[in-house]
Amino acid sequence: MANYEFDAIWFGGGAAGRFGAAFHKALGGKPLIVEKKCLGGECHINRCAFENFFADQASMAELLRLYSGKSWYPNLDLSSISMAKAVETYRKVGQKAFADTMKHQTEIQLNVEVAWGEGKIIDKNTVEVNGKIYKGKNLVIGAGSRPTMPDIPGIDLPGVMTYRDHPEIRKDPKKMVVIGGGKIGIGKAAMFAPFNIEVTVLEKYTCLPKWDRDVRNYIFRDFKRRGIKIYEGVDVKEIKGKGKVEAVVTEIEGKIMEFPCDTVMVSVGLTPNSEVAKPLGVKVGKENEIIIDKGCRTNVPGIYAVGDVAGSPYFMAVARKRGMVAAKNMMGKEAQWDDSLPIPDHIYVPPLEATMVGLTEAEAREKYGDVVLIQVPWGPRPKDPHPEEYYPGFENWSLPICGRTHTLNLLFYGQGRNGLMKAIVDPISRKYVGFHSVGDGAKDGFQYLSYLLKIGWTIDQMSELHEIFLNPEHFIQLSRLVAGQEELKGYAAQVYLEEDF
Ligand SMILES: Cc1cc2nc3c(=O)[nH]c(=O)nc-3n(C[C@H](O)[C@H](O)[C@H](O)COP(=O)(O)OP(=O)(O)OC[C@H]3O[C@@H](n4cnc5c(N)ncnc54)[C@H](O)[C@@H]3O)c2cc1C
Repeated sequence: MANYEFDAIWFGGGAAGRFGAAFHKALGGKPLIVEKKCLGGECHINRCAFENFFADQASMAELLRLYSGKSWYPNLDLSSISMAKAVETYRKVGQKAFADTMKHQTEIQLNVEVAWGEGKIIDKNTVEVNGKIYKGKNLVIGAGSRPTMPDIPGIDLPGVMTYRDHPEIRKDPKKMVVIGGGKIGIGKAAMFAPFNIEVTVLEKYTCLPKWDRDVRNYIFRDFKRRGIKIYEGVDVKEIKGKGKVEAVVTEIEGKIMEFPCDTVMVSVGLTPNSEVAKPLGVKVGKENEIIIDKGCRTNVPGIYAVGDVAGSPYFMAVARKRGMVAAKNMMGKEAQWDDSLPIPDHIYVPPLEATMVGLTEAEAREKYGDVVLIQVPWGPRPKDPHPEEYYPGFENWSLPICGRTHTLNLLFYGQGRNGLMKAIVDPISRKYVGFHSVGDGAKDGFQYLSYLLKIGWTIDQMSELHEIFLNPEHFIQLSRLVAGQEELKGYAAQVYLEEDF
């Protein structure tokens, strides 16, 4: 049997490759990462970390506008609000700071070897980087994904962009059309609008189809009030313009409609970068993803695939944990992807964020029949709130969600935007089946709620926990209010009030 310099070559040092290689090293293996750009991959260049920063900037812009001249806040001159300036800071500071930190942590602190440069896979045990040959017993492909570009006339016009171009923007758009109403497209719409940019979202089917109806209603109602337009059932025919984007031409319910704009953000999904592996004979699926089993093994022995290159779901947790699974299997510790642990998800809707884990109410009703909802607020929200006025009917819609910052302001200044909280319980087993929130600061808790769903956590167990009061996720105390019921019925009024937007 051949002796190899490395136990595995991790091809791509993004979320999947970097975490997988570090775990591999910790297990006693000898990994090599091959990376052409920066460790940590797209996350901090133009994805998660960038969006986190930009969501903060958008929240700031939105809140400055909201607070200006209210209560003790001074009247602010908001003419200098600039999205392009916000992203310039990230380009100049954020991207470099993250890249340096990842490099330091990986190479110095964790002592994982990195071959810097564009890698070329020669065969399953051989990778070439800058003319140097590296040999590994195993090969782990973690080459990531790229934005999917639909085949629309005009897609190459200047002014058409994807998430990759967002940090590169030098001038604020005035009118923007977002093609695609998934969580990235909806997040972009919510984040661009506070910078005085007119935003319209065009979605082929339904926006945020995987999200609970109450959360969707909350977000879209808020969009309506902020002037962000949403169209569903849209067939985009063409992006029009002489030398640059001028309009998006669509067909909606049989009618041709044009949306004038200077910028188009295309957000219709991701395509795995599996091309690097095709010559090796690995099986590739319909979405261009490398097909793997639950142990992250491809059909070729000794070749693994991790992260986005192995297809959806596209999450950091999935990328990193696929890396761990592959590392364990290479080191003879049989490991499998755990489907029983639900994956939490979130969307930035500045100044708040939406988070979910487990089943939506519709899914829960289909599976369990009648379910109990632990929810605030309950019922419709006022259509036309006025700052700093008390509303008759307050009790029906406004129990404050006390988030990290601002949510009480959002309530008291009449925004009617102070959040939403919903836990879904199966009344027979008394187990939670889903959690949903729109708020500020609840996201962290959802990482642990995922595990509680997996182990079948009940309302009775929840009521015994110690809450930190005031808290952004009220699930403990809200559940405790009804946990004493022998036959679990939830709150007295379980009638659902329609509020679709
Ligand atoms: C806009 C956006 C926002 C997102 N936000 C979130 C979020 O908030 N939370 C979340 O959980 N998920 C989020 N995701 C998903 C998450 O970013 C991905 O699932 C994750 O980055 C995938 O990691 P990866 O290692 O598979 O790929 P990547 O991070 O893309 O890493 C692939 C690496 O491979 C390298 N590479 C490729 N080819 C070669 C080669 N030939 N030679 C050398 N190196 C090579 C690349 O340079 C890159 O560093 C977001 C996705 C998008 C599009």
